[in-house]
Amino acid sequence: MTAKLLEGKIFAAAIKAEAKKQVESLQQEFKVTPGLAVIIVGENPASKVYVANKHRSCEELGIYSEVIEMPIDSTKAMLLAQIDELNHNCKIHGILVQLPLPPHIHTDEAEILDFIDPDKDVDGFHPINVGKLATGQEHLVPCTPMGCIKMLELAGIEIAGKNAVIIGRSNIVGKPMFHLLLARDATVTVCHSRTKNLAAITKQADILVAAVGRPHFVTADMVKPGAVVIDVGINRIAPKKLVGDVDFEAVKSVAGAITPVPGGVGLLTIAILMHNTVKAARLQLSKTI
Ligand code: NDP
Repeated sequence: MTAKLLEGKIFAAAIKAEAKKQVESLQQEFKVTPGLAVIIVGENPASKVYVANKHRSCEELGIYSEVIEMPIDSTKAMLLAQIDELNHNCKIHGILVQLPLPPHIHTDEAEILDFIDPDKDVDGFHPINVGKLATGQEHLVPCTPMGCIKMLELAGIEIAGKNAVIIGRSNIVGKPMFHLLLARDATVTVCHSRTKNLAAITKQADILVAAVGRPHFVTADMVKPGAVVIDVGINRIAPKKLVGDVDFEAVKSVAGAITPVPGGVGLLTIAILMHNTVKAARLQLSKTI
C-alpha cells in the first residue's frame, strides 16, 4: 500500500484563491485593501526568507504589505512603540512579529506579542485569541494548525469521531491543534517528551500529527495502517536538505495519507496567514460600520 500524498500546493492554492476573492470583495464593498505588516528584527537568514515569502504571497493576492526591518540591537521599548503605531494604523489589519527575536529581547517575547491588538493578531498568539480558541469561539487562529485542519477539510477527510494523536504540545502548534481537533469532535491525545509508551499511543491514531522538531522521529512501527499522517516538522539535516518529523519513505507504505516535507504543511501556513489577514480586515470593518 502507498499512502495518498497530501500536497500542500493544491490546498494552499485553494485557500489563497478564496482569500483573493475576499480581497476583491472588500475592495468593492468597502474600498478597503487588507494590509499586513511584518516586523523583523535583525538579520536571521531563515527569518528573512520566511518574511520575503509572506511579502510575495501578499503581492500575489492584492494584499497591501509592509516589511518593517528593525536593527538587531532594537530594545523592547522600540518594538512596543512600533507595534503601537501599527495598532493605530488603519492601512494595517494584520501584524506579525517574526520569531525568533534576538537573544537580548527573547525573554520579552510574550510581552511584545501581547501588545498586538488582538483583532490584528494574525498569528493567533495573543492570550485573548488563545482563550477564544480554547472556549470554542475561534477568532484568529495560529496559522500552522489551522492549515492542517483546512487541509483535512479540503481533502474530505472526516475528523468527527476519529482518534487523533498529536506529538508536541507547543503553544504555536500542539496546543492549538488540540483545540481545533477537539472542536471538530475528534478524540484527542497530546503527547510530549515525558509521554510513556509513545508508540502504543500513536498506533491508535486515525489522524497522527507530528510536531516534534526531530528528523525522522515517527517510524513505520508507530503508525496504524491507513492512518492520516500530518508532518509539521521542518528539520534541516544538511545545508540544502529539509526533512520532516516523519520517516516519510517508510511511513508512506503504512499510512493511508501523508503530507510531504517540504511541500506539505509549510505551504499551508502562509496561505492561512493570508486568510487571517483578510479575516482580520473584515473583523475590523465590522466594528467600524
Ligand atoms: P517545540 O520545540 O516548541 O515543541 C516540540 C514538542 O515536541 C514539545 O512539546 C516536546 O515536548 C515534544 N517532544 C520533543 N521530544 C519528544 C520526544 N522524544 N517524544 C515526544 N515528544 C517530544 O516545537 P514547535 O511546536 O514550535 O515545532 C515543531 C516542529 O514543527 C519543528 O520542526 C518546527 O520547525 C516545525 N514548525 C513548522 C511550521 C510550518 O509552517 N510547517 C510552523 C511551526 C513549526 P515537551 O513539551 O515535553 O518539551
